[in-house]
Amino acid sequence: MTPNDARPYQNTVAVLTTMHCKERVIGPVLEQGLGLRVALAIGLDTDRFGTFSRDIERTGSQLDAARAKIATGFEYAPYARVGIASEGSFGPHPYIPFLALGRELVVLIDRERGLELTGHFASPETNYGHAIVSDLEAAIAFAARSKFPEHGLVVMGCVDEKPAPGLALIKDVDDPATLERVIGQVLAKCGAAFVEADMRAHRNPTRMRAIETAASDLVRRFRSQCPACAHPGFDVTERIPGLPCECCGEPTHVIRAEALTCQACDYRQERPATSAVTADPGRCGSCNP
Ligand SMILES: [Zn+2]
Ligand SMILES: [Zn+2]
Repeated sequence: MTPNDARPYQNTVAVLTTMHCKERVIGPVLEQGLGLRVALAIGLDTDRFGTFSRDIERTGSQLDAARAKIATGFEYAPYARVGIASEGSFGPHPYIPFLALGRELVVLIDRERGLELTGHFASPETNYGHAIVSDLEAAIAFAARSKFPEHGLVVMGCVDEKPAPGLALIKDVDDPATLERVIGQVLAKCGAAFVEADMRAHRNPTRMRAIETAASDLVRRFRSQCPACAHPGFDVTERIPGLPCECCGEPTHVIRAEALTCQACDYRQERPATSAVTADPGRCGSCNP
């Protein structure tokens, strides 16, 4: 098997650990790109790995969470050679104020080859967000911004402007009548309600598309092979700053090159990150301190 095979995993079964219908987008991409036949680990409660709606806290990194899901999938399907899981994380954009950023990982582990590959996709195109509301009108306004009802909402109790899922936690709010009813219940109990976008994949079509893109990125990485040993997943692992200033020639913080490394044999290759040979003096620590 080499990464250049049209379908390197033809007829290999991969166990996917999900409760949230991610097979709908991951399955076709991995089947078409790698030949994998994605089967579900049915009956697993992936919520025990942590949920977005805070009833179970998630611990560890996004990659750790995906690995834990795959390990559970292998317990469920001990003869499966390949395990797949996806994991999302959402939060404020690291550089742009008032913008949210969604990050999706799709991880593949091939136990026979000792191979672990990760597909990535990060985008500010996410409906991640929340609102604290004290009347139905505000809840409806937030719902419209969250692309409800195509996208789901989660309604929680609220104490001191903080979510109080212990007092009330209603998932699967998927139509305006239900929204009105549960907002009424929570307002009567708490005086305010904490409403947030449901980030579970099956209730979030925007997220489903992002997971699909991350799965395509996984296929792309698989097909990028090490020039020395042909191991799949030869990809950028480092971005190296130091593009020289146009004016004084000193190295700047602008990215000069990218390094690609092989997981298997540590072969390393550098390539220019940009067609520019010099950086704008505005980005130079000497010319523009
Ligand atoms: Zn290699
Ligand atoms: Zn300079």
